[in-house]
Amino acid sequence: MRSDNHMNTRRWLLLSALGIGAAAATGSAVVLTRTTDHASSSAHRPAPGPSGTSGHKKAGKGTPSPSKGPHRPSGGSRRKSSGPRPGSVPVEAGLRQTYRLRPVAGEYAIGSTVLHPQIRKHAQLTLPGSGRYIALTFDDGPHPDYTPKVLSVLRTYRIQATFFVIGENAAAFPKLLHDIAAGGHVVANHSYTHPLLTSLSTAKVRQELGRTSDVIEKVLDAPPRWCRAPYGEWDARSLKVCAQLGMEPLGWSLDTNDWARPGIAKIEKAVTHGVEPGSVILQHDGGGNRAQTVRAITDYLPRLLDKGYVFVRPHT
Ligand SMILES: [Zn+2]
Repeated sequence: MRSDNHMNTRRWLLLSALGIGAAAATGSAVVLTRTTDHASSSAHRPAPGPSGTSGHKKAGKGTPSPSKGPHRPSGGSRRKSSGPRPGSVPVEAGLRQTYRLRPVAGEYAIGSTVLHPQIRKHAQLTLPGSGRYIALTFDDGPHPDYTPKVLSVLRTYRIQATFFVIGENAAAFPKLLHDIAAGGHVVANHSYTHPLLTSLSTAKVRQELGRTSDVIEKVLDAPPRWCRAPYGEWDARSLKVCAQLGMEPLGWSLDTNDWARPGIAKIEKAVTHGVEPGSVILQHDGGGNRAQTVRAITDYLPRLLDKGYVFVRPHT
């Protein structure tokens, strides 16, 4: 992946000359777009909010649970997700947006990926290029409670991310898809019911991914260009279906294990100790109570900005 640096540089210079906030590109189809144009590190820190005094909120009643969210298939590996576990968590405190924000509309990606991407042999796990570019990704939403909270935090720090949504959640909460897109984030495909794709027939894989792309296209008037297999588990057949549906596969390199609710400090530590140029960070905005995730990103995002990391998202 690093071998594409020369092409990246050329593309970067070209896009920079055009005044486009693109950050990196491969020679093929992976193009990443800068998501923030912060000028001074201190500007990212929100004024401290009130200390957390409220109890944790219950998930919305009567709403379909993203129960097909992060499940761990048997024999799970380090990169796999698991199901939600019971337990109370701290609240989202300090999320008030207490300073002025500029609109992010001008930072939207422009252009398009190729309509017929290559059939990949594996998903890309890190970003191309050598700059301090990283990508933040959220899986298993949209969730009626946590996706808006995540969006609020991202808005506070003016960071744009990629949301790999589960089709049945997207169908249940189409407004949340609009809200994600309106924030300048990328909406991507994470299957319809979160199955292990490698256990399905090719026809079923096509149904899982195709149905999700259809929902996204119906709501946003544009099909997704990026796809992430549940648990990061691809095989040759599912990668072929992914390409046939016009999508590129994207994995991750930094798993926070936030699905297991290990505690805010552990989620933060996973990121602050593990992040490096090119990291693709995996978080979850759905699949269970994500209050820890919300608090963790609130704390670590400004620290990463202070360290000079630039958040990018896939080009769409
Ligand atoms: Zn997932």
